[in-house]
Amino acid sequence: MVYSYDDTNIFARILRGEIPNKTVLETEHALAFHDIGPQAPVHVLVIPKGPYVNFDHFAAEASAEEIADFTRAAGEVCRIMGVGPGEGGQGYRAISNAGAHGVQEVPHYHLHILGGRVLGGMLKRAD
Ligand code: AMP
Repeated sequence: MVYSYDDTNIFARILRGEIPNKTVLETEHALAFHDIGPQAPVHVLVIPKGPYVNFDHFAAEASAEEIADFTRAAGEVCRIMGVGPGEGGQGYRAISNAGAHGVQEVPHYHLHILGGRVLGGMLKRAD
């Protein structure tokens, strides 16, 4: 597998401190911040600090430590934002878009955590 990471993407710039973000949580290997165009009352992005393009790149090449840290961070974001059912929240959706068919806009792996309202059903077939 060959993945090409473009370090001019906006999340790489956030990680370098070149543009601001509204941080929810920072860990050794992950950063979580509010989405600039929220689609729900809770809309947080969780990104690894490493240069991974998308979920399958991260799954294939990140270390076990990075994967564990990122996953724990995403769970912690659910708790912080009050949406985790295990903590009495009303639930959330975790989404990661990849590539052209996934309509991924920013080519740095990120997990959207959405909640705070009923999010509707899953995708409807268009064909
Ligand atoms: P995706 O389509 O999955 O690549 O989602 C990219 C997300 O990044 C969108 O929801 C954007 O609103 C969000 N976004 C783009 N620029 C920023 C930024 N500077 N700070 C926070 N979120 C951003």
